[in-house]
Amino acid sequence: MSLNAESTAFRSALEVIRAVEPRVADAIGAELADQRESLKLIASENYASPATLLTMGNWFSDKYAEGTVGRRFYAGCQNVDTVEALAAEHAKELFGAAHAYVQPHSGIDANLVAFWAILADRVESPALKKAQVRQVNDLTEADWFALRRELGNQRMLGMSLDAGGHLTHGFRPNISGKMFDQRSYGTDPATGLIDYDRVAEAAREFKPLILVAGYSAYPRKVNFRIMREIADSVGATFMVDMAHFAGLVAGKVFTGDFDPVPHAHIVTTTTHKSLRGPRGGMVLCGPELADQVDRGCPMVLGGPLPHVMAAKAVALAEARRPDFADYAQRIVDNAQALAEGLLRRGTTLVTGGTDNHLVLLDVSGYGLTGRQAEQALLDSGIVTNRNAVPQDRNGAWYTSGIRIGTPALTSRGLGTAEMDVTAELIHTVLSQTTPGANADGTPSKAKYVLDPAVADKISKQATDLLAGFPLYPTITLS
Ligand code: PLP
Repeated sequence: MSLNAESTAFRSALEVIRAVEPRVADAIGAELADQRESLKLIASENYASPATLLTMGNWFSDKYAEGTVGRRFYAGCQNVDTVEALAAEHAKELFGAAHAYVQPHSGIDANLVAFWAILADRVESPALKKAQVRQVNDLTEADWFALRRELGNQRMLGMSLDAGGHLTHGFRPNISGKMFDQRSYGTDPATGLIDYDRVAEAAREFKPLILVAGYSAYPRKVNFRIMREIADSVGATFMVDMAHFAGLVAGKVFTGDFDPVPHAHIVTTTTHKSLRGPRGGMVLCGPELADQVDRGCPMVLGGPLPHVMAAKAVALAEARRPDFADYAQRIVDNAQALAEGLLRRGTTLVTGGTDNHLVLLDVSGYGLTGRQAEQALLDSGIVTNRNAVPQDRNGAWYTSGIRIGTPALTSRGLGTAEMDVTAELIHTVLSQTTPGANADGTPSKAKYVLDPAVADKISKQATDLLAGFPLYPTITLS
């Protein structure tokens, strides 16, 4: 691949776009400039390869392709079949799964597909029994009515939000919280770690239909073998949402008990976080659930996005290369170096460290809320997001935590030495920021005071740090 090919491709694309709506072309260029300059520590973001990005910008976007490979509701889908089959094949090989469904448009959609597949497979509705139906498509209107009533009583046991679980694991603001009667398991208040005995106890009491493992903000490995045993002991379907750590599974950093694929009945993921693919979702499962999973569109999804499935095929092919395993290992090495750098400087970390791609800071030790810390860091050129910590006293809006992750900076090539510098920058900003006050003098959870000279200095140091690791080094837009 010559340096010119990637630059030429993006420059030409922008020229074509500029001729129609120059402001969009300008915004695309500005976004690259912004991303190049910011120290991106958002744990759920990454930088997809130029090949992955380019695969999304073409006429595959124009196709309707409801159905599955070889069984479409539209004519003329032979090329979509090619890319969908390729993406599924790469996913199966990469993760060692029997079946892969690559149509979900996002992680939330992948979870919806999985929930529905499990319900359709597992719901012991009297209506279903009476009708002795095996497929959702065979249900009559009366069956649907009975089934809808049944759904209100289905139970899901997932990780609590403040322990690091995700909204789609049965919480109210998401449809999963309305489809399921939810109960959550938290973490041990002393260690911040999952207490498997407590999970087993909750499962015994609650008897969930689905036991969900997976997280957005838990900085440790999960033992999926133990979780499967717990699910089996109460007859629950075991689902793992590996959206955050799919790249670590793909790169064989998480193996054995920590690889969800051999242990779960069904695994969902996003493709754009540590996996470094296009924005999208995916479901992996064994043959038992494959038929139901493949009904995702039109059951809960709109028509598949062929351009994104094509990009998934490209990104998954990249993840099958040996250098991806090296990348995945460096993500964890960097997260651990960042955690150690912060701990050495006195920062409190939830669970006292990390063994995955993310670190969760409890910023109350700096006298700040998560919101104040997030904004002060942003002023200083460091992009993070606030996040609740277990038993958070500041609630989900202001929070007491900052979540940081290393997939993106690792993609740029930063290593453990740069993580120590990053820890120093974060610590300097947080220790120089003080809480602000409202107009009436009462303490504010949002306002903060940070000397702009300090913010500028740190911003400059962050830019200097990044200068050695250019983002998309082969691409110049002008
Ligand atoms: N599942 C988990 C564990 C996540 O962290 C996220 C996103 O943050 C999702 C699902 C949803 O993914 P998406 O934003 O692609 O719908």
